[in-house]
Amino acid sequence: SNRIMLGPLVAAIDQGTSSTRFLVFNAKTAELLSHHQVEIKQSFPKEGWVEEDPKEILQSVYECMDRTCEKLTQLNIDISNIKAIGVTNQRETTLVWDKETGEPLYNAIVWLDLRTQSTVERLINKTPGRNKNHLKHKTGLPISTYFSAVKLRWLMDNVEKVHEAVLSHRAMFGTVDSWLIWCLTGGKKGGVHCTDVTNASRTMLFNIHTMDWDPELCKYFDIPMEILPKVRSSSEIYGLMKSGPLTGVPISGCLGDQSAALVGQMCFKDGQAKNTYGTGCFLLKNVGTKPVMSDHGLLTTIAYKLGRDKPACYALEGSVAIAGAVVRWLKDNLGIIQTSTELEELAADVGTSYGCYFVPAFSGLYAPYWEPSARGIICGLTQFTNRSHLAFAALEAVCFQTREILDAMNQDSGIHLSQLQVDGGMTSNRLLMQLQADILCIPVVKPSMPETTALGAAMAAGAAEGVSVWSLNPEDLTEVTSEKFEPQINPEESELRYARWKKAVQRAMNWET
Ligand code: ADP
Repeated sequence: SNRIMLGPLVAAIDQGTSSTRFLVFNAKTAELLSHHQVEIKQSFPKEGWVEEDPKEILQSVYECMDRTCEKLTQLNIDISNIKAIGVTNQRETTLVWDKETGEPLYNAIVWLDLRTQSTVERLINKTPGRNKNHLKHKTGLPISTYFSAVKLRWLMDNVEKVHEAVLSHRAMFGTVDSWLIWCLTGGKKGGVHCTDVTNASRTMLFNIHTMDWDPELCKYFDIPMEILPKVRSSSEIYGLMKSGPLTGVPISGCLGDQSAALVGQMCFKDGQAKNTYGTGCFLLKNVGTKPVMSDHGLLTTIAYKLGRDKPACYALEGSVAIAGAVVRWLKDNLGIIQTSTELEELAADVGTSYGCYFVPAFSGLYAPYWEPSARGIICGLTQFTNRSHLAFAALEAVCFQTREILDAMNQDSGIHLSQLQVDGGMTSNRLLMQLQADILCIPVVKPSMPETTALGAAMAAGAAEGVSVWSLNPEDLTEVTSEKFEPQINPEESELRYARWKKAVQRAMNWET
């Protein structure tokens, strides 16, 4: 048959909270050639608990790989052109497995999970001055349920199998990237146990200055260092695929999803920022090669380190726990929509929330508040309120939360962003994008190719030493085409709505006390 000649291709595994994708890009043009996506089940065994099955996650990766390779073959594209694979993943989600059997010892505890709330409160109460930022000078993070260390502590304290495996030196800890790379490179038969600096920087065990696991932090959480993966850069060959249609292809890129999106949006310069709307919503701003600490509730995190000998770049991050998750909630819990796309039509029917405000603090509030005891609230209801208004209020909530983190970022740096680069699953919702521009009073710019997270991981993999099929030189990078949403309402109206939102947030705080 006529094989299409394309030159080198690079693939990415994008393992997100709600789905797994496998995507293949042309390394010369950054064009997306084929992909496959599988939704991931989430279980909520108790109130506030969120788990996923590590084996289902792994299977979904194999399934997406197989199906994408089939699609490429149907397109007459030779899969032997795939020269490298990058991994990008939901961050903080915590797994422990047995290195001898290769079996997970518990479900993955998802980043959103709140089961460690009492542990977190106890830890904060023990710090001088009850300071949640007690470890921030080393980690860039507040003590919170969000990060891996407390989840790992919970597993060691509450799951007998984990406890035993740790004692008998058979336990391996990892975030989703580590689990996947270990399995894909051979698992119990010689799999590579590693993570990259971006994922490591979300565990609370990693020192963002020394760029390695920190013995004092490990002692603080009482975590044995032997169970931790080796920390590597975000772009280097970690190992080779051991099975499936891509056997022998190097896995050579690894970035937490939000870092990958920053790379995929080409935010390589100090001051450049992007906001990703997925299950949660994450605004990251590149601050260059020196860490910057926030005075306004933002995190300091590793943006990327694109090669063993390359410098690490840092980012300031505003994290919002619930964005797309509120859409899933309206669908699965309230049943007022059947699909996420229906939400847009429903909200567009009314074009206003009619004074209804919805603070979806299902998992407490993250940035800039870091308040685990906050709970969701819907207020401003009248006899007139209907499901369309509620749908609109849900979309508006995502925009207000973004405004809060953008304000924090502006206050920290004194520099105001003149536009916002966006991506993620929710950005297909055009009403949301317009609403975001209206509420921020700045233009919102969305790339035409929405898979920027995967693109970033593919770029890191393709640029790795020993692969070198993708140039990260700014002059060689392909121009991305984009769409721009300009603000359409006057700033006074925007301010008024934002002020009401702030009042609603105050009502959602300290719900349990
Ligand atoms: P993640 O990387 O966290 O898995 P994605 O970037 O894949 O997330 O985005 C999926 C999220 O976006 C889901 O929570 C879904 O509810 C939401 N979503 C998808 N399409 C739409 C839409 N048209 N309108 C609003 N929300 C949407």
